[in-house]
Amino acid sequence: AGVLYVVATPIGNLEDLSPRAARLLGEVDLVAAEDTRHTARLLRHLGIAPPMLSLHEHNEAARVAQLDARLAAGERVALVSDAGTPLISDPGFVLVRELRQRGRRVVPVPGPCALVTALSAAGLPTDRFVFQGFLPAKGGARRGRLEALAEREETLVFYESPHRIRDTLADIAGSLGERRVVLARELTKTYETFLDGSAETLMGRLAEDPDQARGEFVVMVAGAPPREAGEASAVEADTLLIALLTE
Ligand code: SAM
Repeated sequence: AGVLYVVATPIGNLEDLSPRAARLLGEVDLVAAEDTRHTARLLRHLGIAPPMLSLHEHNEAARVAQLDARLAAGERVALVSDAGTPLISDPGFVLVRELRQRGRRVVPVPGPCALVTALSAAGLPTDRFVFQGFLPAKGGARRGRLEALAEREETLVFYESPHRIRDTLADIAGSLGERRVVLARELTKTYETFLDGSAETLMGRLAEDPDQARGEFVVMVAGAPPREAGEASAVEADTLLIALLTE
């Protein structure tokens, strides 16, 4: 019977591709890739040339029937994205949901994922965390999202691009106040760096050394300090006040 393998690929260092992932990419009938040219480089490195098909956010829904038919015919298909684990801030969710609904076999082939990689070496609590993917691009929406997270006690984790890292740090300082922030940059690559400090301190570091603002980032922010028993949140206090005033 057909299988869709959801295959994680490296986020920088090619040695991080698992032997199982490498073997499956060589065995499958088809590789569905976010960007076929990007994935072709990885496949060339492995010395293999399986047939490829593009699957990105603009054609994902249209690809479902096509891939479902190939699985129905008994084919094995690998889904990959440009880097890391498919579906994690990457295409694939619609395909996996639809294939599962149709009773197809979907098999994860685990490997690199930037958020887990970043958390594993940041020194912030990892027992509970909130992954928020990319924050909204527009300032108002971004601050709104951060404010909605201000009382969460779990470590907050975001993906960010070099274009917005400074604005995001400024909004973290403004919306979340004085907190420990860890910036994980260029993970598994030559210029991998962890910067640690308040959002304002980190803004200073990026201003001093613009190289620190280049590349790919995972932004991690300490959760809100736990509330004392009986201590109400600002929202709860407001609700209580309104209730009392209405009495
Ligand atoms: N699917 C990927 C994963 O499993 O992590 C994430 C894809 S998302 C489109 C790309 C974002 O992931 C980047 O903007 C950055 O925030 C983060 N990222 C990916 N590779 C990274 C790396 N080597 N170092 C730091 N962040 C990285």
